[in-house]
Amino acid sequence: MQQNIARLCQEIRRHERLYYVADAPEISDQEYDKLLQKLQAMEAEHPELVTPDSPTQRVGGAPLEKFASVAHREPLYSLDNAFSLADLAEFDARARKGLDAAEIEYICELKIDGLAVSLTYEQGLFTLGATRGDGKKGENVTENLKTVRAIPLRLPEARDIVVRGEIYMKRSEFQKLEGFANPRNAAAGSLRQLDPRVTAARRLDMFCYGVIAEHRTQEEGYQLIQKLGFKLNPHRRVCQGLAAVEKYIQEWETRRRELDYDTDGIVIKINSIAAQQKLGFTTKAPRWAIAYKYAPEQAVTKLEAIDIQVGRTGALTPVARLTPVELNGVIVSNATLHNADEIQRKDVRIGDQVLIQRAGEVIPEVVGVAASAIADTERGSLSGAETTRAKSYVFPKKCPVCGAVAVKDAEDDAVWRCPNAECPARIKGALKHFVSKDAADIEGCGEQIVEQLNKAGLVHNPADLYDLKYADLIQLERMGEKSVNNLLSALAKSKQVGLARILFGLGIRHVGQYVAEKLADKFQAIDNLLAVAEEELANTDGVGEVVAHSLYTALQAPELRKIISRLQEAGVVLSDRRTRLSSVLAGKTFVLTGTLPALSRGEAEELIKSHGGSVSSSVSKKTSYVLLGDSPGSKVDKAKKLGVPLIDEKGLREMLT
Ligand code: NAD
Repeated sequence: MQQNIARLCQEIRRHERLYYVADAPEISDQEYDKLLQKLQAMEAEHPELVTPDSPTQRVGGAPLEKFASVAHREPLYSLDNAFSLADLAEFDARARKGLDAAEIEYICELKIDGLAVSLTYEQGLFTLGATRGDGKKGENVTENLKTVRAIPLRLPEARDIVVRGEIYMKRSEFQKLEGFANPRNAAAGSLRQLDPRVTAARRLDMFCYGVIAEHRTQEEGYQLIQKLGFKLNPHRRVCQGLAAVEKYIQEWETRRRELDYDTDGIVIKINSIAAQQKLGFTTKAPRWAIAYKYAPEQAVTKLEAIDIQVGRTGALTPVARLTPVELNGVIVSNATLHNADEIQRKDVRIGDQVLIQRAGEVIPEVVGVAASAIADTERGSLSGAETTRAKSYVFPKKCPVCGAVAVKDAEDDAVWRCPNAECPARIKGALKHFVSKDAADIEGCGEQIVEQLNKAGLVHNPADLYDLKYADLIQLERMGEKSVNNLLSALAKSKQVGLARILFGLGIRHVGQYVAEKLADKFQAIDNLLAVAEEELANTDGVGEVVAHSLYTALQAPELRKIISRLQEAGVVLSDRRTRLSSVLAGKTFVLTGTLPALSRGEAEELIKSHGGSVSSSVSKKTSYVLLGDSPGSKVDKAKKLGVPLIDEKGLREMLT
């Protein structure tokens, strides 16, 4: 038994490392949970064999060495799980007994599928952000967290506070990326980037669910942090007693599908802080909270084929084509297989009966070969050819669309890519990206129309879109007078979206929305951007050497230059859309610190930018002025040390008159 336990511990630890440290899990969360439950059951029978480093006693995974490690002031716990209403009733009974109460007031929240972080504010300033790590020590990811817009950098009050929450990636953002298994992995991978600019480009979000401060109930704590500017999930609800909790769970079982983020259950917390304190914690989790996990929806069906999709960046993504099957009321005929390594690991083969499931996410995934199907095959050749499995799937070495030899960015990368920029699939992907909402936002120009335009030979690159004429379009199938006119006016309207969005839409590697905005802010017009040296690009706030190099190289390419000049000729505005009031601050960089008497931080930034200046987040020798408000942070000391002049709001206004 001791050996069995040790072996299981080892296996679980391996999966934890893959999940928490490498952000590359090999098994689904449900499979992991089952292993852990098995271990718990074995340990319950033999409590004397529980070791302090058993996965049942520990939280999370060891922090990565590439980040500085931070000790949490108070540990960040995990949560115990309830996999059924019976588990939940047991939790409620235990809590009522512990508190000697007939009924408990709970607060129910969605369990956001992301990763936990802790944010420390000193005197109202965001000074430290850390991942949960092993609960006691996490990774210092402050700079990366500063790129998350839902995180206030400065609070309206100069107070010391520690706030906790979940960093997650919206499904809509996740769909723009390629190569990650799910939004949670993408969020974890993006947050733990050594280069904050990469994190910034990924657009992470955050919901807060905890605060270390004085308050009477959990909900009061939430209201406090909401007032301070933190983002809270609006779907939480105070529930009196178990029956109300069950109702909440039922309600969200289907509603959670409509959200733009993955949830993997419901978190149920006792609302009263006094009660929480009375119950306390186990080594791993609070006794006053529990996570109710929804059973994943699963079905078994036949894997008919594996298609390889080629994305805008060339990523080759395998998609399982299935015999249509119903999964909770929806007919499913496709599921993701993630990447080549996953197919190999699961050893799914064409013709197999496979288990598919949808846990918190929208797109179903292939879990693996359905166990009963294998068992049947192994039992012998009952029905001859039916039982022989196909050969193991061999991932194509070439792009299935253009035939170019597939490559990997790095040896340990799981994603194979088509390197050919002229690949028709990549061209189509690039066009879809250009017309999308966050880029040129060409209304009504969806995937189908892009495909149609491309197929008809009318559009190969973004500039071609603006050459489209009524006569070209009216000849297309399903395009009546009204839709042609709508498309033409959407195109005309999109000419005004401004430099940042068009720059983003061009799909230059590493130039995400955030970087594009920073570039538009600083350079104002595309001609300035085309004229500057690589070093000057790298000197832009939010842009570093990697991004600058990629951008500079892209901008030197004659093909892109041609597209840009054609866009200009077509009247696409390639300058910053901000109204310029003057240029008196041109070339001057400001850093803001403290609370200004009349202007909010955003207003002050706008004001500076509208007079041609730029705003940076940290003080360096290149900073022209530090704009100083009440209760400023450490930036003042740095400014003094570097001899950067300090001005106040009045001083700024004087510069503008
Ligand atoms: P957990 O995810 O079950 O629960 C704790 C976490 O829930 C908190 O740390 C927090 O990040 C999160 N959370 C989300 N919304 C919350 C809210 N409203 N209030 C409080 N917390 C909230 O526990 P865990 O320790 O983070 O990890 C276990 C999870 O990771 C399980 O889902 C498990 O299946 C998965 N896992 C999978 C593998 C694998 O190989 N697939 C390996 C390890 C862990």
